[in-house]
Amino acid sequence: MMKVGFIGVGYMGRHMARNVAKGGHHLTVFDMRKEAAEELLSLGASWADSPQAVAAASEVVFTSLPRPQDVEEVATGEGGILQGAASGTAYFDLSTTDPDTIRRISEAARGKGVTMLDAPVSGGTAGAEKGTLCVMVGGDEPTYQRYKAVLDLIGDKVMYCGDLGAGAVCKIVNNLIGLSVGVVLSEAFTVGVKAGVPPETLFEAVSKSSGNTQAMQGFPAGLFKGNFEPGFQLDLAAKDVGLATEMGRRLRVPMDLSNLVQQRYIDGQNSGWGRMAAGAVARVQEKRAGVEVRT
Ligand code: NAD
Repeated sequence: MMKVGFIGVGYMGRHMARNVAKGGHHLTVFDMRKEAAEELLSLGASWADSPQAVAAASEVVFTSLPRPQDVEEVATGEGGILQGAASGTAYFDLSTTDPDTIRRISEAARGKGVTMLDAPVSGGTAGAEKGTLCVMVGGDEPTYQRYKAVLDLIGDKVMYCGDLGAGAVCKIVNNLIGLSVGVVLSEAFTVGVKAGVPPETLFEAVSKSSGNTQAMQGFPAGLFKGNFEPGFQLDLAAKDVGLATEMGRRLRVPMDLSNLVQQRYIDGQNSGWGRMAAGAVARVQEKRAGVEVRT
């Protein structure tokens, strides 16, 4: 039994934290919205009033927060993790952030004897609930090994990616692919439907062919029904594509298409759909095309 701290129990964090608790570990939680932690508290988790208090009660701390700046604030800010963590504490960030932010936090953590690793996840809320996520870990390998058993409660595809930041890079690359495909799919399906073929026929044909993707397999329950309940919010998708294009700028990698993809997600945000599922980006294209992809 380990004393595990968990900060950020939103769409993803609540499930990951529950699976850690179910694995027999004692959980201390904090979220800026206390109501988000109610279920965990009813299952026996302890509440702490700040990230600092979570860290003081824990030998290993996890965060699952929206944006890189949220992670940095919770880790290094006033009342943050590093103000409460004892020397020897391990800290895994499960959020999708960027390698520069990770390195800055890790540098500050090292000064306090805290080892930080990046450990972003993929597999959505369904994967988080079932404990079938892919967890992409970067950083100190002995620390990774020491806490691998806890990571295995979060995902059944836990992978050591390399040095600090390597997990973040893998995750950014993955999401850029998935989210770009989402935009391509919206163009493909609007033109198919406008050409007179129903969405379900297009879906069946593509499912049996070379264009099949995981992103498209979400269409029957999502786009086809006009169901944009998150899951994974469009605001976070826009953030992730932005992390990829920023990395491209910094490294001087031309990413023409990715920057166009980013504009489409920004369009979705400006349409007021940021809190909807990332798949609502298809609505931007539906509006432009003058056709809806619904069954
Ligand atoms: P979310 O917004 O549902 O959850 C974030 C939680 O953090 C919320 O409960 C919020 O109240 C809390 N929070 C925000 N700022 C805080 C602060 N300063 N202090 C304390 N609590 C704070 O987001 P999510 O969908 O659970 O995603 C979390 C992270 O995981 C993001 O980086 C996201 O990109 C990534 N991710 C999400 C999914 C998904 O399918 N939702 C999948 C993989 C990765």
